[in-house]
Amino acid sequence: MYLNPKDGRFYDDYTYRKTPFGERPPETDQGRASVIGHEFGHALLGAHDESPQFPLGRNVRDNENAVRAQVFPPLPPRRAYGGNQFPIDE
Ligand SMILES: [Zn+2]
Repeated sequence: MYLNPKDGRFYDDYTYRKTPFGERPPETDQGRASVIGHEFGHALLGAHDESPQFPLGRNVRDNENAVRAQVFPPLPPRRAYGGNQFPIDE
């Protein structure tokens, strides 16, 4: 887990390059909260992202999207990780 306090999304350069434009949250309090939810899923729960490396990964759905739904105004759920799309309602 790495949160860069100098970036509007807490991203480091690697994460910025790796995350497709359409998957990046807005540079707002709501967007930063969704990044914290994502990273805490890794750090506190040991969750894996929805990647080919971890076919059962649910970190975005279980942790990032949970925060996206709870902030005000809510953010739409993220539907892909690294360009790999996944269903959000299962
Ligand atoms: Zn992740």
